[in-house]
Amino acid sequence: MPEAKTLFEFPARLMKRAPDEILLDLAKSRNAFDPSVFDEHRPFFFSAAISNGELDCYYTRMATSSLQNYAADADAGVSLQDSHWEWRLGLGRSLTGKYEKAGESEQVIADFYTVCGIKFNDATYQTTDDFINAIRAGIAKDVSIGFHGGEFVCSVCGLDMWSWDCWHIPGLEYDIKDKNGDVIRREEAFAWVAKARLAEVSVVYKGATPGAAILKGIFLSRI
Ligand SMILES: [Zn+2]
Repeated sequence: MPEAKTLFEFPARLMKRAPDEILLDLAKSRNAFDPSVFDEHRPFFFSAAISNGELDCYYTRMATSSLQNYAADADAGVSLQDSHWEWRLGLGRSLTGKYEKAGESEQVIADFYTVCGIKFNDATYQTTDDFINAIRAGIAKDVSIGFHGGEFVCSVCGLDMWSWDCWHIPGLEYDIKDKNGDVIRREEAFAWVAKARLAEVSVVYKGATPGAAILKGIFLSRI
């Protein structure tokens, strides 16, 4: 399991998300059917590092093409779900998405919003107030994405990992040989996920991708 190091490589950017005023304007202009709801129910904005280029516990790694798609999809707006329960309605929605690269590290940061005072019939939290308090307290902090489409490319041979031509199994080690047939190193096979699209972002008890988390520095809107 790799270390969750990505977050620490973007320290200057973690706190620099869009101001609440801009996020509120986005929520009003893009999403809200009736923007006066924000006068009646206080909005709550928070940011999350939703995906990155680290190897996850399923032996997959997001390729740059997927991460850039996720940023575009989060920017267009995807639902924030409760534990990947896609048959339930969302806890909130994304407002922005940004792909960031620093050296070899890549990640996608997104801003989300919800409003106080929404009750749920059957969910982890009874109300959005409970959900907001869980984020504020650092109890709800891991996130995980649901994606669709894309290609699974073998890290060892570069072929489609689902095809019969690739005989590598993610998580197992293989000898990597040079053109003379000499073993130069051993490598753990994994699947690159390329050209995938973001379906949703979920708050989960433990994320599969190291470093995918709600970012510290959130605060209740004073608006
Ligand atoms: Zn292969």
